[in-house]
Amino acid sequence: MKLTYRPFELQLKHRFTIAKFSRTATPLMLLQLEHERYTGYGEASMVPYMGESVEIATAFLNQVDVSRFTYPFNYPEIIAYLDSLAPGNPAIKAAIDIALHDLEGKLRQQPCWQLLGSNPALMPATSITLGIDTPDVLAQKVSEAEGFKFIKVKLGSDNDKQLITTIRSLTEVPLYVDANQGWTDREQSLDLIYWLQEQGVQLIEQPMPKTDVDGNAWLTERSPIPIIGDEAVQRLPDVEKVAGVYHGINVKLMKSAGIYEAQQMIIKARKLGLKVLIGCMSETSCATLAAAALAPQCDWADLDGPFLTSNNPFAAPAFKDGRYVLNDAPGLGLSL
Ligand code: MG
Repeated sequence: MKLTYRPFELQLKHRFTIAKFSRTATPLMLLQLEHERYTGYGEASMVPYMGESVEIATAFLNQVDVSRFTYPFNYPEIIAYLDSLAPGNPAIKAAIDIALHDLEGKLRQQPCWQLLGSNPALMPATSITLGIDTPDVLAQKVSEAEGFKFIKVKLGSDNDKQLITTIRSLTEVPLYVDANQGWTDREQSLDLIYWLQEQGVQLIEQPMPKTDVDGNAWLTERSPIPIIGDEAVQRLPDVEKVAGVYHGINVKLMKSAGIYEAQQMIIKARKLGLKVLIGCMSETSCATLAAAALAPQCDWADLDGPFLTSNNPFAAPAFKDGRYVLNDAPGLGLSL
């Protein structure tokens, strides 16, 4: 097996602002694993606030011995091996895991969603995210979001209500809200949640800082709409810790170190009675299709990467009626 990789700068269509950060591009590492005549594709999206970078990913990949990745693919062993090389680095570990799944599908001549036991008929509609912006830019973004069944709005600034009111003047589409840890006062947050419910908001991601476990649990106990932990949940051991703190978790391949552990997180969440949202970072079709292969096992999907970026090096995934359409091609079903 041969591993090759190259850095890639993924450009965003609009400057993206959330409660704590703002950016116009995201560094990626695009990775290929070749075995016999097949190539598996993987991707790491290294958003700056997660602490990974092209340099860190390169140093990590230099340590990886691909002779360990023999067929049949033993994911628990491979993830344990990658974790033994360095803690953290979940995005670059995800890139390897995604490429292995793509390769496995191609070797078995089966689509990844089938290998993972997903039913394409259960694919949830995906939301498209609008960052914090001026009313003019928001109007533009809302017009670009036509065809989506849900819009996700980033809150956590001083004018949350104004932002929602602006969006409501432009569209009736149901909303998801992501506060990105931006709310601090419990009572005020709960008042806002009741107001947001009247505005057609269906769920709220990470209202208060992840370190405020009691505050988030207090809101979850009282909120009329589901509260979802995102920043509070990275990998499998975190799922157990947030039961009772949130109604559900946001699983992302770039946090979970890939498809294998993401599925373990979904299984664990179900056992604990937690809902599951599958989300993404700024990603190309590669990581998006990897998440889409698991999305039918989740309650909600927020996989808008290909729609928010302007230089996706792969063909856009098939998308109809606000949903990704899983195809029968072996592996991820990625077209170059
Ligand atoms: Mg989030």
